[in-house]
This record gives sequence, structure tokens and C-alpha cells, in this order.
Amino acid sequence: MARLVELRCTSCDSFLSRIRSTGMVIGSPFQECPRCGAFVERNRCREWDLFDVAAKTGYFLGSLGAWLALGLLPGLIYLLVRGRDFDPRWLALALVAGPLFAAAIPALGLAQRVRRSRARMSDPMYRAKLLEFGRRAARERASVPTLDPVKIPRSE
Ligand SMILES: [Zn+2]
Repeated sequence: MARLVELRCTSCDSFLSRIRSTGMVIGSPFQECPRCGAFVERNRCREWDLFDVAAKTGYFLGSLGAWLALGLLPGLIYLLVRGRDFDPRWLALALVAGPLFAAAIPALGLAQRVRRSRARMSDPMYRAKLLEFGRRAARERASVPTLDPVKIPRSE
């Protein structure tokens, strides 16, 4: 289990939420303080469309890799039990169906997180806030590549 840490407002110290202390998660990269309106960075969160290819691949493997590997077990066990006398069709079926079956439920969870992220990103009010947050963050620090407002794709 990932450790959770408290996220507090950087200007008024109000408690905002609990966030993971390690790894990247799909989510809003900022939270608006309900008390003072400050945009507080959630530095382990990014919207899915702002993950780069490496981050998407890493997140995908982190979420599903163990399940996909586990799904290979039935095929490998079949191969071990049958030795040279295996039926390649059964082996192929087990090696394809096993991982798909094992990763199906975690994949649905991942798809749902991506869908929610895209739903947030398609809200013009949210995008405006995200841009404003990106501008403020860019002003505060010299280079924050993933938060560069120019890189946020336009909604259609
Ligand atoms: Zn505040």
C-alpha cells in the first residue's frame, strides 16, 4: 500500500486532502483551497493527457504489469506439465487468454481513471483553472516542463 500524506494549503495551512507519497497517479495536479482560493500543487498527480509517452508506459506497466505476468502462469504451467508433448494451440490460447483475463479488472479501473481525467479536461472551467495554475507554477519556478501551459492540448 502506498503511504498517504496530508496536503495542506500553502498559504493558509488548511487541510485539503490526503495524497500518495510515492509514484505518479492520474488526477488533478492542483487543488483549490476552499478557504482562501489558493491553487495548491499535488505534485504526484497529472491528468492522463499530460503524461508523456514514457510516463504513460510506466503507469500502464505499474498498474497492469504484475497482472499480465501472473496471467502467463497457466500457459507456463501447461508447458511444464506437458513437456515436449504440448499442443501449440492450447499454449497460444493460454498465453493470450491468461494475461487478458488476469488484467481485465485492473484494466477497467485504469480505463475509468483515464475517462474521469478526460472528463475533467473537457470542462472549460477546469481547463482555465489548470492553465492559471500552470502559469503560476511556471512563474514560481524556472522550468516545470509538464506544467507548461503551452503543452496543454486545446479542447475541440
Ligand atoms: Zn488556503
